[in-house]
Amino acid sequence: MAVREYGSVQHITILGATGSIGVSTLDVIARHPDRYAIHGLTAHSRVEELAAQCERFLPKVAVVGSANAAQRLQALLAARGVRTQVEYGAEALCAVASAPECDTVMAAIVGAAGLPPTLAAARAGKKILLANKEALVMSGQLFIDAIASSGATLLPIDSEHNAIFQCLPRPYQRSPAQHGIAKILLTASGGPFLTRAVDTLAAVTPEEAVAHPNWVMGRKISVDSATMMNKGLEVIEAHWLFGASANQIDVLIHPQSVIHSMVSYVDGSVLAQLGNPDMRTPIAHALAYPERIASGVSQIDLAAVAQLCFERPDFDRFPCLKLAYDALTAGGTAPAILNAANEVAVQSFLNREIGFRMIDQLIARVMDTLPHREATTIDDVLDQDRSARELAYSYIQP
Ligand code: NAD
Ligand code: MG
Repeated sequence: MAVREYGSVQHITILGATGSIGVSTLDVIARHPDRYAIHGLTAHSRVEELAAQCERFLPKVAVVGSANAAQRLQALLAARGVRTQVEYGAEALCAVASAPECDTVMAAIVGAAGLPPTLAAARAGKKILLANKEALVMSGQLFIDAIASSGATLLPIDSEHNAIFQCLPRPYQRSPAQHGIAKILLTASGGPFLTRAVDTLAAVTPEEAVAHPNWVMGRKISVDSATMMNKGLEVIEAHWLFGASANQIDVLIHPQSVIHSMVSYVDGSVLAQLGNPDMRTPIAHALAYPERIASGVSQIDLAAVAQLCFERPDFDRFPCLKLAYDALTAGGTAPAILNAANEVAVQSFLNREIGFRMIDQLIARVMDTLPHREATTIDDVLDQDRSARELAYSYIQP
């Protein structure tokens, strides 16, 4: 591998390397072998894909979800003559995210499973590229405190938050008012059901729900986009990343997904970040920050886009968005309860155990039943996460 003329090579661990974000991250990294080397790659069960990634990127460590998956990976790597060390399980995930040889962690596991290793990276003072919004939604202030006390760096990968980050002044002190910011304008495509008759939503299938009009993503976030829970989680994510209160964050539907979000200032200025909807742009931005590198994304042709449209979201069509605002306002472990109930509901919908409209009903029922409390420790959060899952399952399979 070529040695950089300035700076040094960044050693990266990708949590969730076989997912949509993981694959896009490796695509950007492969374009810059002089800048980046891979320390660790992790996957849950897609062992063949992980073996191919190991052969190409030669990580020091690879982590999978089970002993069986580890055995299969070991055999595939031995057959290819790859000497990557194979580990499995939750502790190994935390270890590969906090290893001294690793500088940067791409947190791209989907859902609550990503919280422990992402937090381990935060506590170890790493540069964290955060795609796994659920981890921050669940742990909130505890995660922000871990970043502050270890001196870790947190850079948003979610396209909206990456856009907001790019539109904020530097340095930014986590207080919108202090910087003359009136509002954060979080844009949303509205997903596949923006214009579908509301009374037909109960009958939509998983295939229809995951068919996002503008973005190609994992199945869970695709369903979240169809319910707009994704935007709700992003409101909570924006609260923690930028220190904005619920009434300083407005969601604006923008079906073209060309403006990835905006910051509105008290003098009347609105700053926006635009580009083609391709996650390699925010990934490249965060990897190289404060420099800029090529990402493989083509320049946007604004004349071809021609029109940019905006509308306000309708809470009757998208009740999950309202539930997320309510959880943010309630505070404490309420966002962790919301997130856990949503993960169970989405998985059950994808398994065809419940209908699409049951997703919001199930979450609302769990939130109404399980009292939230202060989130003093991560154990409080994980405990509430477990209770909310159990309750949600009990409603699905009484
Ligand atoms: P995905 O389903 O494509 O990939 C998920 C990855 O997590 C896979 O590598 C999988 O092996 C791993 N994983 C799943 N369950 C696991 C478990 N229990 N333990 C350990 N690893 C596990 O998901 P994705 O679309 O890449 O999304 C990843 C994260 O990034 C999510 O939090 C999502 O909200 C966020 N995000 C994704 C996009 C996007 O465009 N895909 C955009 C913004 C944010
Ligand atoms: Mg997003």
